[in-house]
Amino acid sequence: MSAMADAGSHIAAVVATSTCAHCQREIPSSNIDLHSVHCARNLQKCEHCGEMVPRKLMEEHYNENHAPVNCSLCKETLRPEILDLHKSEQCTQRMVACAYCEYELPAIDIHEHQDVCGNRTEFCQTCKKYIRLREWIGHEMQCHVSSNGSEESSSARTFPEREVRPPLPVRPARAVPAAQHRRLLFTVAVTGIAVMVGSILFQKESF
Ligand SMILES: [Zn+2]
Ligand SMILES: [Zn+2]
Ligand SMILES: [Zn+2]
Ligand SMILES: [Zn+2]
Ligand SMILES: [Zn+2]
Repeated sequence: MSAMADAGSHIAAVVATSTCAHCQREIPSSNIDLHSVHCARNLQKCEHCGEMVPRKLMEEHYNENHAPVNCSLCKETLRPEILDLHKSEQCTQRMVACAYCEYELPAIDIHEHQDVCGNRTEFCQTCKKYIRLREWIGHEMQCHVSSNGSEESSSARTFPEREVRPPLPVRPARAVPAAQHRRLLFTVAVTGIAVMVGSILFQKESF
């Protein structure tokens, strides 16, 4: 009887816990008094991460985990937890490869460089024409991977561009000046009269 009661109280003592008012952790009830004294005297809750840190190590904990750090590339002061993300994706001085020439530049300059670099052209052996680098991927998908495999359209695309001549410009019909037109009529009339007169004279002389 007494043995059973002892066993029961022993199990209860192991299972029962109390919450430490200082660190909010569940502490075995049998240890709570001792823990509370020790906890309040030695541990301090970090105001940055909430971790319970020994008071003596709080400065070290802060310096290692929470002190602002300078980015080695742009010298900006940052919280240490975002330093890795900053250096890999946000820092204006991180090196980024150009999409068109693989040359590496600071991120702050890459857009300006790519604007120029992407406007360079490369000769497409398949199409026999120059394609802008910025349009190259789209060009290859549109022109080289034929979805219908049409013979006609592919031969049209491979027609060398330099043999395609622009259509001849249409010459505007030259307007005949009115004065010149009148002079022409006059000449015809004079010639006609001269022929008539000449033939009359010829007829008279032949008699
Ligand atoms: Zn505690
Ligand atoms: Zn902390
Ligand atoms: Zn930076
Ligand atoms: Zn480039
Ligand atoms: Zn092409």
